[in-house]
Amino acid sequence: MAASAKPNPLTTRLISLLIVVIVLALVAVGLWRWQVNGWGSLVWLASFVATGLIRAPYARRTRNNEIADDRKDLSERLLLSGMFLTMMVLPLLHLATGVFDFAGYALPIWATIVGAVLQLPFLWLFWRSHADLGRNWSVSLEIHEEHSLVTEGVYARTRHPMYSAIWLAAIAQPLLIHNWIAGFLVIPAFAAMYFIRVPQEEAMMRARFGEAYDRYAARTGRVWPRFGDGRDAAA
Ligand code: SAH
Repeated sequence: MAASAKPNPLTTRLISLLIVVIVLALVAVGLWRWQVNGWGSLVWLASFVATGLIRAPYARRTRNNEIADDRKDLSERLLLSGMFLTMMVLPLLHLATGVFDFAGYALPIWATIVGAVLQLPFLWLFWRSHADLGRNWSVSLEIHEEHSLVTEGVYARTRHPMYSAIWLAAIAQPLLIHNWIAGFLVIPAFAAMYFIRVPQEEAMMRARFGEAYDRYAARTGRVWPRFGDGRDAAA
């Protein structure tokens, strides 16, 4: 066990429990205030809870993975914090309290409908990418001792289907939450995360899997599925 590298498990559990309770309380108040925030907020809240439910079992299953290569440097920590802030904290806080009401905007109803419809491919792809990665999933950039290269399922034609899913969620969020701070900010936050992290992640995978990763990269797209014979290695 890499116990020395991790904080006391009881403390971690208590902190996680506290976060879950706070998040659920904010979700409940957000649901209660839906008429102020518009029906798009209900869709966003439902999807937010669904993503938590999809991810929770994988977070539990990968908790004890022995890390072989950890690339969680300062930039990775900042990017993850940016995502945590713009995809969870700011929208929940706003929907529950109206704190960012001054930064609201109006959208035609069809835009909110597009945001709602996008939740279907988002949730499906988010679920399938977790299911296909299984124990190879991690929030931050790391390789564990028994890591295997997944090239099947939604990974058969796309190298980053989970990021494709998060792109869909990021585009949908400002369509559902009509607010520059609580809705829109996630787009620049995820763009930064995506464009900085993907080259680092691919370098890490290449360092571990060598030629097998090169061959895999040549026949797949980054966030769009790649069809054809894969001789042209463009992403
Ligand atoms: N970028 C992928 C995975 C995101 S989770 C996607 O968007 O679907 C991030 C972790 O997944 C990375 O730290 C890496 O360890 C792992 N990973 C990424 N691609 C993988 C693959 N094809 N097989 C196994 N693990 C992978």
